[in-house]
Amino acid sequence: MSKEYKGRCHCGSVQFNVVADLNNCFKCNCSFCVRRASTLVKVEDSKFTLESDENNLGKYGSRDFSDHFFCKNCGIQCYTRFKNEKGTSVILNVGCLEGVDSYSLNPVTFDGAKKL
Ligand SMILES: [Zn+2]
Repeated sequence: MSKEYKGRCHCGSVQFNVVADLNNCFKCNCSFCVRRASTLVKVEDSKFTLESDENNLGKYGSRDFSDHFFCKNCGIQCYTRFKNEKGTSVILNVGCLEGVDSYSLNPVTFDGAKKL
């Protein structure tokens, strides 16, 4: 079931609201995700609202279909904007969501190493 969450980086410079269904959480084994080992959840663009200054975000765009956004101050990678033929979506670091124990979830593995 979808629920509204507040999200933030470690220092609080990056803050956002999101409506997400954590039953759909996953881990990805692409070359970026294996290095950060985060549990992730994907939402439609319209379900995500950035509440903090965009200037607090750094962007790492490793591939043309995705931009990884991180806090310039504390370095936490908070979310990724992803685009494909179906449109754009936001992939969140579940560990940034307040009140969520990301270690209690049962993420499936997305085979990003092969599919991306
Ligand atoms: Zn921060």
